[in-house]
Formats: sequence, C-alpha cells, structure tokens
Amino acid sequence: MRTAGRINAEALAAAYTAARPGATTADLNAAAEEVLKKYGVYSPFYHYPGPYPYPASTTVSVNNELVHGIPSKRKLHEGDIVSVDCGTVYEGFVADSAITAGVGQISPEAQKLLDVTRKSLFVGIEKMVAGNRIGDVSSAVQQYVESHELYVTREYTGHGVGRQMHEGPQVPNYGQPGRGMLLRAGMTIALEPMVLVGTAATRVLADEWTVSSQDNSLTAHYEHTIAVTPDGPMILTVLADGRSPWEVSGHHQEKTI
Ligand code: MG
Ligand code: MG
Repeated sequence: MRTAGRINAEALAAAYTAARPGATTADLNAAAEEVLKKYGVYSPFYHYPGPYPYPASTTVSVNNELVHGIPSKRKLHEGDIVSVDCGTVYEGFVADSAITAGVGQISPEAQKLLDVTRKSLFVGIEKMVAGNRIGDVSSAVQQYVESHELYVTREYTGHGVGRQMHEGPQVPNYGQPGRGMLLRAGMTIALEPMVLVGTAATRVLADEWTVSSQDNSLTAHYEHTIAVTPDGPMILTVLADGRSPWEVSGHHQEKTI
C-alpha cells in the first residue's frame, strides 16, 4: 500500500502541476494517467460501478463540484479551484488520495477554503491513533471545519481501504468523540474531508456522477490514505521524500491560517 501510495502521490502531483488556466479537466486526468501508465499500474476508479461504469482514472471536480466530476474538455480559468481524486492499485493493494488546486490567482475566500480543508485532514490524522475511535477522528475534522464557519458533507465519507478501494469502516467527517469503531494498529483508512462554503447539502448533476454543493457554493476535498501503526499514524499517499502531492515545487499553496 505504501508503494501504491507513492505512485498515487506522483500521479496527483502531476495533475496538480497541470492545473493552470487554459488546461482542461481531461488534461489533469491525462497527467495523472501518464504516471500510472509509467509504473504499469491502474486506477480502481476506471469502470467503478455506479449509474454507469465510471469512464476515467481520476475524478476532476471544479468549484461547486465537490466530488466525482468526470474529466472533459471543460477549460479551467484563472480563479477556479479544482479537486483531483485518484486511486492506484499496486500488486492488489489500493491507495486513495485527493487534492484541491487553485488555478492561477484565487480569491481569499477560496484560499481560506483550501487551507481549512487541508488543515482539517491533518487535524483528523492526528487522532488516528490506536485506542482512539472513529468518532474521535470524525469529530475533530468537523469541529475544526465548523470553527471556521464552513460545512462538512453528510452524504459522503472516508472509508477503510486495502485490497478494495472502499472497505469498512465508514469514516464520516462529522461525529461524536468516543463513539464508533476502535482504531487498532494495522488498520488502513482513507480520510477525506469534503468541505463546502454555503451549506452541507449536495446534489447530483445530470451526468449522474458529479456531486455539487446544492447552492453552487465553492467546495474543496483533500484525502490521504493512512495506516494506524503502533508508533502512530503513517501517511501512505506521499511522495518518496514524504511530501504530500500538493507540496510539489513551484505550485505550493501552503498558507498560515
Ligand atoms: Mg479518493
Ligand atoms: Mg476515498
């Protein structure tokens, strides 16, 4: 899974770097796919069952689109924010991770959304310690996001990941401390805060895959696959040097909140 995670991080870094004004959402998918192809691996997203088999290796979701956007000829414009979610299967083991990138200069509102969503992921990861419960992770994400007057989705959740992309347990981005399944060393979980500016409500668009905020407000999504170990949480979806895919040089958007 660590190898799957490294390859996946490289694919997402390529998509992140490709997120520039004038690029299409299909260009971002192609950048990620090229990396998967180089390693001779594939994405579990391709032909994932749904209203119809999912047609691409990544999902690419722009602005109000929260998750599951289908890559297309849609062009990105200065000021857009674009989320890319990608999975990798390596020797039967799966890694799952997502990033959100600003396209050129973005508004302070959009920057705050990205910063809070990314930080909420790490606030949750800190709670992924053996002996804690899923609710400790979920509530930490929720409280951090809501303390910044943003909203977490109720309809889509993080999840166990391993031989399949979606395994138990579900890991919501909201919950109660001390509740839910006990975390034990050896568990591997995809934690993925999905955050909205306007309300928590979502709707599915006419293509039957893309999930938008119901009020069309901006949304963001970051995801890592993490192993619970005796020494604490270990993030598996990082580059060989330990950086997250959005920390690639020249396009780094880390800001202090
Ligand atoms: Mg994902
Ligand atoms: Mg996931």
